[in-house]
Amino acid sequence: MLIIFGFKRTMKILFIRSGSCPRCRVAGPHQVLEQTGKLTVFFIPVSTTRRRYYSECLNCGERTQLSRRQKDALAAV
Ligand SMILES: [Zn+2]
Repeated sequence: MLIIFGFKRTMKILFIRSGSCPRCRVAGPHQVLEQTGKLTVFFIPVSTTRRRYYSECLNCGERTQLSRRQKDALAAV
């Protein structure tokens, strides 16, 4: 029996917030992104293997990693 499995990585925008960027020092919009890694069997996602959060400056593209707690704190504001 042949079983085809693999990994798939997806990125989605959770929300957009305003903040100041540590790189370009412009106060503007930042998008909060969620990256998930999924285990696939026959190209169908069956379980999430990892989840990471990022904040990306829309002015310069600087991306910083966030913890889940930081992401929740930003979403509550
Ligand atoms: Zn920036």
